[in-house]
Amino acid sequence: MSQIDALPPLREVITTYGLSAKKSLGQNFLLDLNLTAKIARQAGDLTSSDILEIGPGPGGLTRGLLAEGARKVLAIEKDTRCIPALEEIAARYPDRLQIIQGDALEIDPLAYLTPPIKIAANLPYNVGTELLVRWLTPKDWPPFWSSLTLMFQKEVAQRITAEPGSKAYGRLAILAQWRSDARIVLDLPPQAFTPPPKVSSAVVHLEARPEPRFPADPAILSRVVAAAFNQRRKMLRASLKAVSPMIEDHLKAAGIKPTDRAEQISLEAFCALAREIAAEQSSKS
Ligand code: SAM
Repeated sequence: MSQIDALPPLREVITTYGLSAKKSLGQNFLLDLNLTAKIARQAGDLTSSDILEIGPGPGGLTRGLLAEGARKVLAIEKDTRCIPALEEIAARYPDRLQIIQGDALEIDPLAYLTPPIKIAANLPYNVGTELLVRWLTPKDWPPFWSSLTLMFQKEVAQRITAEPGSKAYGRLAILAQWRSDARIVLDLPPQAFTPPPKVSSAVVHLEARPEPRFPADPAILSRVVAAAFNQRRKMLRASLKAVSPMIEDHLKAAGIKPTDRAEQISLEAFCALAREIAAEQSSKS
């Protein structure tokens, strides 16, 4: 099971370092190194990129990324118990693995990485969506990363890649698909993890587009989409009332029926609506 490198099998690592999984840290470990190498391959060529990995745990995916030739991996792990296990990997791959113990929400990875940068992680469920939204909504675009290869609960993966008209379609789909190409590349059953979670998981791969798919002001688009999906069962003329006093006119100008609901509206139409609202705001200022 551990032919990808000369390090001990992960079950042995877990016993040696006493890494019993903690629910509070979202710990569901991948112990099959052939599987972690397969996940690493979904990130494409790693040899000319630095890789940011959040939550390496005992290091299964970290070893996959290094075995697949990652130029450098920066691994940020909150659980102090995992650090000695990760240091053992760093010793096997001199100068290619940097470990930081801390909370990924508090650490600026750019202080440690050289572009191009890819992000690959089996994310802790409790901070996964927050990190993804941060990566998708930087002040400037293109972002610091060229691609994201991320494990999520399957339901979250479906929300990221959802099409209009589906139940899963919402703010996350718009944020992800406006400026990235997003697709599910791997499905994993609960038994792939130790301990097995209650739900299935999936790996999503997102490539940052050099330009947004359709022009729109990020702040306005974000406000419109949040308001529209916060009350997704309401007609847009009602859910977006607070966004602009002229919302019915803007909806019609964007080619949207004011009686439509958020989940029927394409990304292109949301961007058109954001442009109409921006035009009203700039005509006032
Ligand atoms: N990558 C490992 C694997 O695939 O087996 C572990 C994945 S486990 C789902 C999530 C990992 O994230 C755990 O090791 C956990 O300790 C770590 N973690 C949880 N919250 C974190 C945070 N805020 N910052 C950094 N790591 C965190």
